[in-house]
Amino acid sequence: MTIHQAPSIRTTCPYCGVGCGLLAAPDGRGGATVSGDTEHPSNFGRLCSKGAALGETLDLGGRLLHPMLRQRDGTLARIDWSSALDRVAGEFDRILERDGPEAIAFYLSGQLLTEDYYVANKLMKGFLGSANVDTNSRLCMSSTVSGHRRAFGSDTVPGSYEDLDSADLIVLVGSNAAWCHPVLYQRIIANKRSCGAKVVVIDPRRTATAEDADLVLQVRGGTDTTLFCGLLVDLAEHDALDQSYIDTHTSGLGPALARARELAPSVAATAAATGLAEADVSRFFDLFRATQKVVTAFSQGVNQAAQGTDKVNAIINCHLATGRIGKPGMGPFSLTGQPNAMGGREVGGLANQLAAHMYYAPDEVDRVRRFWNAPRTASHEGPKAVAMFDAIAQGEIKALWVMATNPAVSLPDAGAVRAALGKLELFVVSDNVLTNDTIASGAHVLLPAAAWGEKDGTVTNSERRISRQRPFTPLPGEARPDWWIVTQVAHRLGFDAAFPYASPADIFREHAALSAFENDGTRDFDIGALAALDDRAYDDLAPVQWPCPASGIAQARLFGEGGYFTPDRKARFVAPEPLVADAQPAFPFRLNTGRVRDQWHTMTRTGISPRLATHRAEPFVEVHPADAARLGLVDGGFARVATAYGSCVLQVCISDGQQPGTLFAPIHWSDANSSSARVGELVVPRTDPHSGQPDAKATQAAVAPLEFRMRGFALTRQPIALPQDTWWTRIAVQGGVGYRFATNLSPSAWRDHLAGVLSGELAEYVDEARDVFRAGAFIGGRLDGCVFLGPSEYAAKAVPAWDAVKALFEADTIAERERQTLLSGRNGLPDAGPLVCCCFAVGLVDIENAVASGATSVEKVGKLLRAGTNCGSCLPELRKIVTRVHVVERV
Ligand code: SF4
Repeated sequence: MTIHQAPSIRTTCPYCGVGCGLLAAPDGRGGATVSGDTEHPSNFGRLCSKGAALGETLDLGGRLLHPMLRQRDGTLARIDWSSALDRVAGEFDRILERDGPEAIAFYLSGQLLTEDYYVANKLMKGFLGSANVDTNSRLCMSSTVSGHRRAFGSDTVPGSYEDLDSADLIVLVGSNAAWCHPVLYQRIIANKRSCGAKVVVIDPRRTATAEDADLVLQVRGGTDTTLFCGLLVDLAEHDALDQSYIDTHTSGLGPALARARELAPSVAATAAATGLAEADVSRFFDLFRATQKVVTAFSQGVNQAAQGTDKVNAIINCHLATGRIGKPGMGPFSLTGQPNAMGGREVGGLANQLAAHMYYAPDEVDRVRRFWNAPRTASHEGPKAVAMFDAIAQGEIKALWVMATNPAVSLPDAGAVRAALGKLELFVVSDNVLTNDTIASGAHVLLPAAAWGEKDGTVTNSERRISRQRPFTPLPGEARPDWWIVTQVAHRLGFDAAFPYASPADIFREHAALSAFENDGTRDFDIGALAALDDRAYDDLAPVQWPCPASGIAQARLFGEGGYFTPDRKARFVAPEPLVADAQPAFPFRLNTGRVRDQWHTMTRTGISPRLATHRAEPFVEVHPADAARLGLVDGGFARVATAYGSCVLQVCISDGQQPGTLFAPIHWSDANSSSARVGELVVPRTDPHSGQPDAKATQAAVAPLEFRMRGFALTRQPIALPQDTWWTRIAVQGGVGYRFATNLSPSAWRDHLAGVLSGELAEYVDEARDVFRAGAFIGGRLDGCVFLGPSEYAAKAVPAWDAVKALFEADTIAERERQTLLSGRNGLPDAGPLVCCCFAVGLVDIENAVASGATSVEKVGKLLRAGTNCGSCLPELRKIVTRVHVVERV
């Protein structure tokens, strides 16, 4: 593999599906400075806080650098590559021979590059003869795939990001784009500011995205389908349908409209079913009807539902009925969660796909079989993710290879998933990290995979744009690219001839050739124009949208003039099913799960960045103020959230963004970084009947207050074990590790537990009667470690603020005066508060002070402190702070 030595390497962000282009300038010591690529058409130089902090995540601490094998005593020991690969191939072969292809499986990831994905899919489906390949993309956008296929006959995103720049109305459904797709959100807001586009936000939660909206529709959870059925009826009633487009390019409007009339016959009925005010429903319908250029962008709030596919189709129905699809500024638009969920769909990484947007129709199986020269090619769908792990629990699947994902955290009913993993006869994990919840579930063989910055290949973003991820740092230790690992296993299984790859370029050419193979325009995914790229051209490949067939040019939009991929080339309207209520008196709340602004998935990368850790440092549950008052929940206190599947202890965040009777908890924390916050354990394993996507937004739950006598924090240079029964969460800090905790254990018991943990010149203060314990260890004038503990109700007063002490811990030296203040427990240390603007490290206290002293707008705060003037991810939060402090000042 070539390591590029140029000052800056063009590559792509490894986080969300926006797919921002980056410039990485390696520092020669394994690190890099990362900035936005002004020439990349997805972001034009913009980055969000996560992308901007990528340079902080390249540290090798915690990396898996060598193949490892679990020993009889449960420990992991290093082995050489050859032995590891022999072991994996030999065991897969043995179990395949003994139990057949249904007994083996791969679980892949939207974090894999397309080339990695392609070879894994080809090995399992083509040569091992099993369709037991699914991916964490099942949890991300598989309902969109099903919805697209039902409507268009293919999994095609019809539009481009440019449509968000030119639309006059942007409807965001089930999408906190301000936090989860921040760069696209900034494009939307730029359109609003410069051209007056209107923004409508439809979401059961009032999120940061609602801050800039012209209309916020806080629907009752799960009722999006009803709202869009109401819209379809309204369009029909007002004679606002595009009859010409309907007649020429679609079929099935009649039954879909009839079903819509059953579910939402009028504005009043729609309002009643969705919990909205009639006036708001009318305003939305009027806006949609009157605006030709409408983009409806949707994300996990639509996909992650037991009726996710119907939701997608209810949205698409409205665009088909008005002909607003595949034309500039118009169309339904799925905002993909993961960096390469789209690439995974292209290669066939889902269990119900075969390869290159071909499925399991006999002619498709035959075509792929001939192309691969693979007589054993699977001929029927495999189990989707939840069913796959059920099959593992039942002992039907006995060998599993997990690549680049953490199912013990991310799948629903994650406790049962973890138990199932423990039953496997062969459990292989390829990953970057030495440990996570999945590995800790008993993985037998660990294979060290290349990480972002080392990987070489392609990814595809939400607008079908293929971009290169290029390496800019050498492979550390014995880490290897995923495609190489799979290829080596394939060779050991006897498939050398079918896996002759020496580089990702070899794989990409084959993938592109398969997309064009016997493709007479009846398959949407065709990148035949890229099948003959030589190595140099592959290395230099500029971002390109598909389809790009050998005989044509890349298409930014599809379906403006019809040409759907159904047998009659017409789009299909779909009649959605009525909602079925799920009431469980023991669990009266509806638990919604999601993301926070500055973390990604299970925090294995973003969790390394001290800057990103400052935004929302602790796992929390949001509760409506009325529910909190009724149940005695206190803001900043603790609550136990329980469902039929498990329980978590989370910090309470009282928020009027929640509806009464609902809860929200983020998905990022796991057993690897917290004591009781693996939220996947709470989630019902109910799935959409078409897509198999789990419903992560609507688990029946109970919540109750939980009290701890004391609260505190620790800052240490190395990870430490905290006493049992302590609630804790680990936080990245500069030069060490932070813990925030809550406990009922006495100060002296803490002192005993920590004996020997803090080294250097030790200063301690214990007041057993007042539940106070403080300890600081100093080495050479530097604060090397500390622990602060005080009674919960006085914690803020009894110990200096976390942010102030953290600043001392991160400094090279500590002054005598600060040392005395620190240990006396008095406040008075400089404290900028938690970071709001990660780009320029501006804290809450500084912003509040700036507003109080006259910076009464976001623009003025930006001029004074630079906060919010880079990526814009914090602008909704800044706006809130300015409003809050300014209003309080005026009062
Ligand atoms: S929006 Fe942020 S996380 Fe998403 S690709 Fe761009 S920089 Fe990465």
